[in-house]
Amino acid sequence: MKIRVLGCHGSEFSGTRLCSFLIGEAVALDAGAITSTLTKEEQEQLKYILITHSHLDHIKDIAFLADNLQAKKRDPINIVSIDSVLEILKAHFLNGKIWPDFTKLPAPNSPILKYLPLPPDQPAAIGELTVRPIKVSHTVPAVAYEIKEGDSTVIFSGDCGANCMLCEAANSAKNLKALFVSVSFPNNMEEIANVSRHLTPRLLENEIKKLKVTVPIYAYHLKTQFEEEIKQELTTLLPQVKVLNEKETLNF
Ligand SMILES: [Zn+2]
Ligand SMILES: [Zn+2]
Repeated sequence: MKIRVLGCHGSEFSGTRLCSFLIGEAVALDAGAITSTLTKEEQEQLKYILITHSHLDHIKDIAFLADNLQAKKRDPINIVSIDSVLEILKAHFLNGKIWPDFTKLPAPNSPILKYLPLPPDQPAAIGELTVRPIKVSHTVPAVAYEIKEGDSTVIFSGDCGANCMLCEAANSAKNLKALFVSVSFPNNMEEIANVSRHLTPRLLENEIKKLKVTVPIYAYHLKTQFEEEIKQELTTLLPQVKVLNEKETLNF
């Protein structure tokens, strides 16, 4: 499985992008950095976008991608998530007011986007991959994704707070090659992290204690403003955790 990091930060500045990963050529996970990083040809190859939750930093480029692909006659891009996440996108994002409803455009029978709801906890075939959405605790409906290709499995946490059950999912996964976990705030912002259902290095340490398997762990979704602080705290508390970098490509 080839994973290209398009963006891996929790805030956007020049040089840091919002979360988005390209898995193979046809599947993206979250849409924080699709149109600013992929060429026109690469955008045209996309068939599925897995969405962890409805927060704008994870969905914004669905809008711009749809707009970019208007000129090309092609099959619709599937916007994949659990029903409760897709319902929020329908009502509050691609609703004809914030952005055109590209699930009905340019014509209802040949739209640019299509919603593909998945039942939680059930594995589903998404292109070459097998994908299982796992409900996690955040401030809105949210899922992590267990993603399998051949004999490699990885898990992406999406945004999640303390006691998110992620390690339980990791403990039961077969052939787990990597765990990608969002760590957003430094330790001294634990209160804000708890209210916004995010993790700090210390909260991640508590989660990792529940892990019964040894697996590479990658931290992402660091808020750029606190990046150095979070990295130092991770080095001290959890030296085994690597922090993801933009433009990095990983193979599992
Ligand atoms: Zn969020
Ligand atoms: Zn986020």
